[in-house]
Amino acid sequence: MSKKVIIIGAGFAGLSSACYLAKSGYDVTILEKNDIPGGRARKFEAEGFTFDMGPSWYWMPDVFENFFKDFGKRVDDYYDLVRLDPSYRIYFDENDMMDIPASMKELKNLFEFHEPGSSVKLEKFLKEAEYKYNVGMNEFVHKPGLSIFEFADIRVLKSMFKLQMLTSMSSYVRKLFKNEKLIQLLEFPVLFLGATPENTPAMYSLMNYADLALGTWYPIGGMHKIIEGMVHLALELGVDIQLGTKVNSLIVPNGHVKSVLTDKGEFNADIILGAADYNHIEQHLIEKKKQDYTEEYWDSRTMAPSSLLFYLGVSKKLKNLKHHNLFFDADFKKHAEEIYDKPAWPSDPLFYACVPSVTDDSVAPDGMENLFLLIPLAPDLEDSEEMREKYYQIVMERLEAITDQEIASHVVYKRSFAHRDFKSDYNAFKGNAYGLANTLKQTAILKPRLRSKKIKNLFYSGQLTTPGPGVPPSIISGKVVASEINKSFG
Ligand SMILES: Cc1cc2nc3c(=O)[nH]c(=O)nc-3n(C[C@H](O)[C@H](O)[C@H](O)COP(=O)(O)OP(=O)(O)OC[C@H]3O[C@@H](n4cnc5c(N)ncnc54)[C@H](O)[C@@H]3O)c2cc1C
Repeated sequence: MSKKVIIIGAGFAGLSSACYLAKSGYDVTILEKNDIPGGRARKFEAEGFTFDMGPSWYWMPDVFENFFKDFGKRVDDYYDLVRLDPSYRIYFDENDMMDIPASMKELKNLFEFHEPGSSVKLEKFLKEAEYKYNVGMNEFVHKPGLSIFEFADIRVLKSMFKLQMLTSMSSYVRKLFKNEKLIQLLEFPVLFLGATPENTPAMYSLMNYADLALGTWYPIGGMHKIIEGMVHLALELGVDIQLGTKVNSLIVPNGHVKSVLTDKGEFNADIILGAADYNHIEQHLIEKKKQDYTEEYWDSRTMAPSSLLFYLGVSKKLKNLKHHNLFFDADFKKHAEEIYDKPAWPSDPLFYACVPSVTDDSVAPDGMENLFLLIPLAPDLEDSEEMREKYYQIVMERLEAITDQEIASHVVYKRSFAHRDFKSDYNAFKGNAYGLANTLKQTAILKPRLRSKKIKNLFYSGQLTTPGPGVPPSIISGKVVASEINKSFG
């Protein structure tokens, strides 16, 4: 008889691991507390608008292609992908912006325009980034991070030197480029990893290869189309997905989980895979003496930021906005300090605006616009309606001034989302949005382990364990943990 696996959480990591485990012959059930799958990548519909609730940047298309390929499928069996051009826009000030072209030739021209001679340096930078991408994505991300010996292979050790694990992203970029705008452009992608460029190893310039060479893509219908595709595949493979089923505790009689208790009763299992926030499962669903980590351990982790989000329906077409727009018209260092060093509501926030209706008519009614605003914030801040409204006004005024148009008076739908919602909807530790930051001290074996030390049949997956935050890493995390389960129980 097939071994029974219970997976807690139907986000990218839970769905990915479910597909791999079902393919290997396990009897797989996903228990998900929310009424729709997708976790942080859920969607909702309101007044004719379809909002993606979390991720909006589709990077590393090879990871998605490889995922579906592992099941004899292709991305276009499930959704239509388009490459955005320009990839995104950066506003440095009211009349000062930069569109990042998809074409390499145009990108080099852009670099030359801002810093003569920099296109040659860009070539070198991207060549190194490509090497890191290939080693990082083919070797490192697939290592479970359970032992230092995984990295003891001479080829990997050699590459670690070339990967620049001990140089920071910030000093690496600043050694090559002098123009502040180009520096900001090259430092921006590491923000996806949840830490500042000063605290992120230069290995992660692989993100620049993903950004500038592999491009920014968009699944027509929205990012949730990826989730729908993965759910479709999971169901084809025989996975049972139980929505609206919150896990309240794990029953661990003798070093093995026997079952999980949910709002809807008890589910027995041979193997449990926690694909919800690691801290929630480890600290809240298991009794203290069976936990691997202490409260102090968790408190000392650098969490990736939380966010204040606004989902807005706008009753007219907007000008001067692309699909993705970064507003770097404020002091980047000051905002980063208020996220990581002295957690506080930012004095002058940077923000991001996504307008998917620029590319996709299906996400807003005719003649209207779907506008998503994101302000990165320190985790664990006091989150109140007053603060949300205060920051809405700040950001909206800047958005209107910089893009030279009235927007607020045309907002016909508005919903906000921040710490309180991250906690209540996803059981997110400190209300984090993107999990655990990828700092050097929290890389590979230094992350919370994807297998419990004390409970033999308990595994973890998702953005708080290896390889880290983001949609592609969460999908890979599901594959890596499925392979570990197979090694022990296959
Ligand atoms: C606002 C925002 C923007 C982002 N932007 C990008 C982007 O542009 N590109 C990118 O690549 N990444 C982005 N990310 C990061 C990316 O979305 C995440 O890294 C990824 O979705 C995490 O997937 P996961 O499966 O680890 O966790 P989750 O998506 O959180 O899934 C965990 C699931 O577990 C469920 N759960 C929790 N507790 C229980 C319980 N007790 N019982 C049952 N179920 C439970 C939750 O409801 C949830 O569905 C963004 C994230 C956010 C929040």
